[in-house]
Amino acid sequence: VGDSADFDSEVDSVCPYCGVGCQISFKVKDGKIKYVEGIDGPANENRLCVKGRFGFDYIQHPHRLKKPLIRREDAPEKGLNVDPANILTHFREATWDEALDAAANGLAKLREDTGRRVAGFGSAKCSNEEAYLFQKLIRQGFGHNNVDHCTRLCHASSVAALMENVGSAAVTATFNEIENADVAIAIGCNPTENHPVAATYFKQFAKRGGKLIVMDPRANGLKRYASHMLQFKPGADVSMLNAIMHVIVEEGLYDEQYIQGYTENWEAMKEHLKGFSPEKMSAICGIDAEVLRDVARTFAGAKAGMIFWGMGISQHIHGTDNSRCLISLALMTGQVGRPGTGLHPLRGQNNVQGASDAGLIPMFLPDYQPVTDDGVRSAFTDVWKSSDFSSEKGLTVVEIMDAIHAGDIRGMYILGENPAMSDPDASHARDALAKLEHLVVQDIFLTETANYADVILPSSAWYEKTGTVTNTNRQVQMGRPVMPPPGEAKEDWWIEVELAKRLGLDWDYTHPRQVFAEMKINMKSLDNITWERLERSAVTYPSLSPEDPGQAIVFGDGFPRADGRAKFTPASVIQPDELPDAEYPMVLITGRQLEHWHTGSMTRRSKVLDAMEPEANCSMHPRTLRALGVEAGDYVQLTTRRGTVSVMARSDRAIGEGQVFLPFAYVEAAANILTNPALDPFGKIPEFKFSAVRVEKAKDA
Ligand code: SF4
Repeated sequence: VGDSADFDSEVDSVCPYCGVGCQISFKVKDGKIKYVEGIDGPANENRLCVKGRFGFDYIQHPHRLKKPLIRREDAPEKGLNVDPANILTHFREATWDEALDAAANGLAKLREDTGRRVAGFGSAKCSNEEAYLFQKLIRQGFGHNNVDHCTRLCHASSVAALMENVGSAAVTATFNEIENADVAIAIGCNPTENHPVAATYFKQFAKRGGKLIVMDPRANGLKRYASHMLQFKPGADVSMLNAIMHVIVEEGLYDEQYIQGYTENWEAMKEHLKGFSPEKMSAICGIDAEVLRDVARTFAGAKAGMIFWGMGISQHIHGTDNSRCLISLALMTGQVGRPGTGLHPLRGQNNVQGASDAGLIPMFLPDYQPVTDDGVRSAFTDVWKSSDFSSEKGLTVVEIMDAIHAGDIRGMYILGENPAMSDPDASHARDALAKLEHLVVQDIFLTETANYADVILPSSAWYEKTGTVTNTNRQVQMGRPVMPPPGEAKEDWWIEVELAKRLGLDWDYTHPRQVFAEMKINMKSLDNITWERLERSAVTYPSLSPEDPGQAIVFGDGFPRADGRAKFTPASVIQPDELPDAEYPMVLITGRQLEHWHTGSMTRRSKVLDAMEPEANCSMHPRTLRALGVEAGDYVQLTTRRGTVSVMARSDRAIGEGQVFLPFAYVEAAANILTNPALDPFGKIPEFKFSAVRVEKAKDA
């Protein structure tokens, strides 16, 4: 810590971790980031959490990839078997020309020989421009829409419900609007660990007297600030939410004027809710009927109420139904479009909102414009100056793995994603990666997925690139390079352009600002937002004029649906795909921890964060541990129908009895070896939040 004279440079950019999008000033000395401080960004107002403050040193880790690599002809069979400190046993170093030619030739050969059987995973860790280029490369270069990214694993079901019922996939209000609310629901989210700076606003709201209703099977860190803590049974979201809405109808607490003015399908919704009395639903969701009634009265009686949700809502086979219920609850109480009201799915990765907006999804082009619409496709091919591509929706993340096993996908380009760790039933995903005839991986480390690559292209960390990024609040911000990529590593957009040229595409971008300018042509969300404005300050979309900083709250005067009305879509109770039984009697819930980010490739290489949480662990209620004959600190084996992992057990009263929580950042106890790949039929998101599991004391414990 020191004054500016102590540093060689100071650069303002954005945190690379969560969707809050905190702005940070980086202080650089002798080619290294020495120190950071939070600055006055619209989402963080100088605040930072432990990841933003201490999690930057991974970029200098000795495992950084610094040269392009090509798999050696005498390499052992593909598998999770490469030592990151000894990569040259499996790969040989190559020049950029050689590696790019090898990458492109392998993909082009499959394009010609097999009729397009190539798919791509882009990344929510890259910039908006890089996400846009990635989806363009797959669509223009291979003629289909088999392009997706990790939104499929986090909020795809929320997006499906929002598009269906509200007509827009983003939040209706920033999380900072909570300061104007008098009641807020936080359901299926754990902001103190996953969106820590947003959580500080939630805590301030509660301290000022706001009523914070927390609903989650785990009693998370917001519990002590909560006016109501509903620790409901895993998977019982729809029964609980329908019961709350039943009370609102039964007691006439709904906003008739709002419903008549701005919604449709209300009568069907009212009729549907008749069967969900709290007295009937209480046994299913595990919450007393009187508590459900009190929550209904509290939320419906609010002058201004907001609803926040996370992956506890979305990662179920009924994830879209869960979100439909939350949307209906906000609509029937008129809690949308005014200060202190709104629907806010807390987005996970730093740029999952922007990557989705930029079209990195198989059913939509940029700005959620359907690939099935001839006019939409032709608007893009006009700008791209290329021929038409398929009108068929592409395959999603989990479907692509299945398609590899079926022989329908034979090559992949994966940029900054790690499906060998992040996909459900990870053994199935790893077997799929091993089967690929040609796999190109572009990343900053030898990830578990890169173990299976034929060509590895060393790329840039967020702190090493120029590009825009969009946070959970719809705030578009400028990312600036704090330092150059190490060795011969390159910025991701440059690699994409070079690969596209070798695939025969007529691309001549020389700077991300040109990509941004192209994005603006067919993305109305970027109207009035220019690169020059973003260099000066963040802008929230939609921005109504070149001077408007953007709309924190939207849909005060109707919704972007054909008739301007939002829709009630009733949801019925669907049981989880895999219920506990005699062989697998407990429930496995997976998620994140404060200190580690997703598959751990960054945070486990960050000294401070790794020192805080160095070892894989799972959590169970003390009574569950006692029933299993296990002490905290013992090792346990978790077994599902898909595999077994061994992991240290912790005691945690926050989790319900008969449940076990396992973070998914640890390769040595990879949670996704265990998880169920069953999909929500609308969002195609896997059921990460509910698997039947058996827990036993490990034999050598
Ligand atoms: Fe980074 Fe999110 Fe923490 Fe802010 S809250 S510092 S964006 S991880």
